[in-house]
Amino acid sequence: MHSFSDIYGNALLLRHLQQAVAGGRVSHAYLLTGSAGSGKRLIADTFAKTLQCEAGGTEPCGHCKSCLAFDSGNHPDIVYVRPTKKTLGVDDVREQILEDVSLKQYRYRYKIYIVEQADTMTVQAQNALLKTLEEPPAYAVFLLLAENQTAFLPTILSRTVTLHIRPLPDTMVADYLEKKKGLSPADSAVYAAYAQGSIGQALDLLEDESFQQMRQEILEKLMALPQAKKGEVFLWAKDLEKYKDDLRFLDMMQLWYRDLLYAKRLRSEKDLIQKDKKAEIFRSAVESEGELARKAALIQRARVQLARNANFRLTMEVMLLQLKEN
Ligand SMILES: [Zn+2]
Repeated sequence: MHSFSDIYGNALLLRHLQQAVAGGRVSHAYLLTGSAGSGKRLIADTFAKTLQCEAGGTEPCGHCKSCLAFDSGNHPDIVYVRPTKKTLGVDDVREQILEDVSLKQYRYRYKIYIVEQADTMTVQAQNALLKTLEEPPAYAVFLLLAENQTAFLPTILSRTVTLHIRPLPDTMVADYLEKKKGLSPADSAVYAAYAQGSIGQALDLLEDESFQQMRQEILEKLMALPQAKKGEVFLWAKDLEKYKDDLRFLDMMQLWYRDLLYAKRLRSEKDLIQKDKKAEIFRSAVESEGELARKAALIQRARVQLARNANFRLTMEVMLLQLKEN
């Protein structure tokens, strides 16, 4: 558990942190930004564990008192700071950081504050924290975790080393699912396609039955669409209103036509993303390449119209009728 070598992707960022440890050039404050599920907490935890490890290497040793304390979830010199309400307010910063940071560390080298959802910090909270960032005690290290860098005051940003966690290639997410979660190559590729380069999001999808039901339903309907009667198309458009606030079904539709196009063009299953549906895909890929590309574009157009507040049901009716045409 918790070693840099086990973390997928973002090799440069990880090397930066490890070199800081090796060279004894650890900054007092880091801002780790990345989308939900991108691994902010995992990277911060691994860095904190390494910094506190009594063996002093660039990976946690896993055996010393500090590593064992970390593994027990009870490290006295690693403090997690979280918002108590929707935002991280000035009271949170005062009670969870400022009143604590003047007390020296309990027994390890640093006192590390891992601040979750740091981008919810109010302006007053940021200003309260700023004084400490300007003159931090020698032992203090702050790791601010955030999705959104623009939420911070320039004065905070100028005091922190900002590191961006990048989305991983789909192939890397798929590799993780295969090796660490024991998924088949076909299933791994499908989940990776919907995970937006985030292992955390892929893991959420694995647990999310509604996602699997939605996919099953959407693919069945798309396969039936060419033979459907007009009345059935209108009924489906009405039924899709249940997904009004969850437009992942449009991703699923786009991916379907994308795979049909690849099946048609390349005649090989190698480049299909939805390998678990390869038989259905080859059976359905009857139209010309131009026609399939046009259909994928229709879905994108519907998405843009919905973003501009077009009527949901009407947009779906038009899209489905056009998708049905040969
Ligand atoms: Zn250790």
